[in-house]
Amino acid sequence: MKPIQMVDLVGQYAKIKNEVDSAVLGVMERAQFINGPEVKAFEQELASYLDVKHAIGCANGTDALQIAMMALGLQPGDEVITPSFTFVATVEVVALLGLRPVFAEVLPGTFNIDPEDVKRKITPRTKAIVPVHLFGQTADMAAIMAIAQEHDLHVIEDNCQAVGSDYTFPDGSKKKAGTIGHVGTTSFFPSKNLGCYGDGGAIFTNDDALAKRIRQVCNHGSEVRYYHDVVGVNSRLDSIQAAILRIKLRHLDAYGQARQAAAAHYDAAFAGLQNVHTPQRSADSTHVFHQYTLRVTGDLRDALKAHLERSDIPAMIYYPVPLHLQKAYEGYGIRKGDLPVTEMLMEQVLSLPMSTELDQQQLDHITSAVKAFFKNNQ
Ligand SMILES: *Cc1c(COP(=O)(O)O)cnc(C)c1O
Repeated sequence: MKPIQMVDLVGQYAKIKNEVDSAVLGVMERAQFINGPEVKAFEQELASYLDVKHAIGCANGTDALQIAMMALGLQPGDEVITPSFTFVATVEVVALLGLRPVFAEVLPGTFNIDPEDVKRKITPRTKAIVPVHLFGQTADMAAIMAIAQEHDLHVIEDNCQAVGSDYTFPDGSKKKAGTIGHVGTTSFFPSKNLGCYGDGGAIFTNDDALAKRIRQVCNHGSEVRYYHDVVGVNSRLDSIQAAILRIKLRHLDAYGQARQAAAAHYDAAFAGLQNVHTPQRSADSTHVFHQYTLRVTGDLRDALKAHLERSDIPAMIYYPVPLHLQKAYEGYGIRKGDLPVTEMLMEQVLSLPMSTELDQQQLDHITSAVKAFFKNNQ
């Protein structure tokens, strides 16, 4: 059996090596490393895949969030509602811009932001909501957009983990995750569902004026070279990464199906196990399984993780400490006990290996190890 990793990027590359190698060499030969034709082509292909008017490349997913907030004109002191159960980048940029993060609860089944708690957290200073489509499933965007409309708030979707996920509105219409709010962001970090071979990110919007400001912010606040109308940053997707992403985008749906097949295998194997709760599927979103995350009850999570590691199976806790209890963010007036669902989940979640390359033998080894653990720990 091939050794099991959380994500198998070597195996994935092997299958597209010829295509990728020649695309990368092509960029080298033309030597247009910044803003080459590959960047423009990828932006257009990604916009067309997502069915959104503008897709704008940038240097990484963290920058994408920061640039979106700058382009929306958020001002120091403005409140931004985000989940506490997310990767730190979502909240880091809020703090960096002098905005005030306000943490909302998540739903225990989907791990996505709880619209009812968002409503409770709105104040006269609230300016934006940042739903995070955690682990590959779109948050309840119909509810969030309704709240935003009622209170005149911006919605910035952190879609770093759910690119390709389809969301269905109550009226039956569908949109891709990241194209529903006023602006959406994603990351092309190598282990993300659409990952490049270094750092990269993108920002999506259907708003022409906002798209123009986003491009301006990305490019030192400049539209005409050496004339700077607003304070900007330097954040670009480079041509080599764009060339690789053009190839990987063509495989994205097949990659999603491979992840879903692995998830279905896990689900079937774990059905009926006490103390194991397989990931809940949202009724209105497809799941692209950035992570396959179990909830392990009975205080057995850490013992299961240790048992798997002894069987050479990596398993990860995403995330061990919620952001409202992190040292860097403890100044925002929220304490242990304030977000009980989030705090409970942090004690229970365990992500199993998930990638496009898991084979039957590996999946069987993982599921047998989980079942053996629970046979001995009822
Ligand atoms: C990965 C990730 C980011 C940051 O992306 P980088 O490209 O690593 O900067 C932000 N938010 C979430 C939810 C992520 O998973």
